[in-house]
Amino acid sequence: MKMCRLLSLVLIFFNFSFSQQHSRPKNIVIMIGDGMGLTEVSASVLSMENSPYKKFSNVGLSVTCSLDKLITDSGAGGTAIATGYRTNYHFIAVDTLNRPLTTILEHAKKLKKYTGVVVTSSVTNATPATFLAHIIDRSLDNEIAEQLTNQDVDVVIGGGTQYFLPKEFGGIRTDTLNLLNKILSKGYKLYTNPDSLLNSETGTRFYGLFGSECFPPASQRKYTLAQMVKKAIKELSKNKNGFVLMVEGSQIDWTSHDNNAVEFFPEMVDFNDAINTTLEFADKDKNTLVVVTADHETGGMAIIKGDRDGKNLKFAYTTKGHTPAMVGVFANGKGANLFNGVFDNYMTGRKLFNLLDPKYKFK
Ligand SMILES: [Zn+2]
Repeated sequence: MKMCRLLSLVLIFFNFSFSQQHSRPKNIVIMIGDGMGLTEVSASVLSMENSPYKKFSNVGLSVTCSLDKLITDSGAGGTAIATGYRTNYHFIAVDTLNRPLTTILEHAKKLKKYTGVVVTSSVTNATPATFLAHIIDRSLDNEIAEQLTNQDVDVVIGGGTQYFLPKEFGGIRTDTLNLLNKILSKGYKLYTNPDSLLNSETGTRFYGLFGSECFPPASQRKYTLAQMVKKAIKELSKNKNGFVLMVEGSQIDWTSHDNNAVEFFPEMVDFNDAINTTLEFADKDKNTLVVVTADHETGGMAIIKGDRDGKNLKFAYTTKGHTPAMVGVFANGKGANLFNGVFDNYMTGRKLFNLLDPKYKFK
């Protein structure tokens, strides 16, 4: 009888560790719609043909407060997702004593995975910075650029060339560092216009930096975030150990700061496309977790009018800043069921870390 019980316990244990092991994804794609609250997502579902949200079978709600403020910014908001820790307003992947917090991209490199970041803002902007740098003030773009070039990240796509170049080369660095030369000397390919990247076989780790500050708004851009994501995934998915990629629809936030409903639509459509492209890869690959969320809501947006078919939506905005409204967490793929429920923003980061490496310990 005793033997029988022991045997069944052993079997349960093996079964458990087997299923644990096999519910972990090889690849993780974290997609952040900056400022994309639930009204923004509702507008997408109601009115946009390419809205991806109904494709997700696991949905949670995240409480976005920073450690010290009810209403967060992308620094503290991004840090929670990138590191699994809450920190203070405007801080970038450091704790309240300015000690670095390991980012999920840094830990992925220890596991010999490839890592990447694709954004429509400067790559030094607060959200990408939380995955790529450690600094107490999000406004120190020059310093963030230098830290980024010391990181072992495989694919970087976004804007912000001015932070990589000294004044004599058209940048705004106050030192004499030419960080674009440094990138080249580290063996990266560097693309400074989108066509050259899209038309090339990259074949190795690369930077695509287009625009001195950021990409043009989606309404004026000739290329899409989805094209860039596709290019990044093509390179990153060559690693047999897998990859971790962060993608941001950065400018959704800016349209809501401006209370600009006209520009909001193309930014959301652009981000939707990037999500669809990623889901297509994940569907084929069957070993990729895709998590779509936001760092916070912007604009206190409400839908106050519109046709039954979702056309002619009219918005009211209650602020030009951020709000503490909860944001959605949409997940598909291995481990996606962990993202159901209502939880604090740093738990999104912790769930991602746990799926990346169950041995990773939080303090
Ligand atoms: Zn903002």
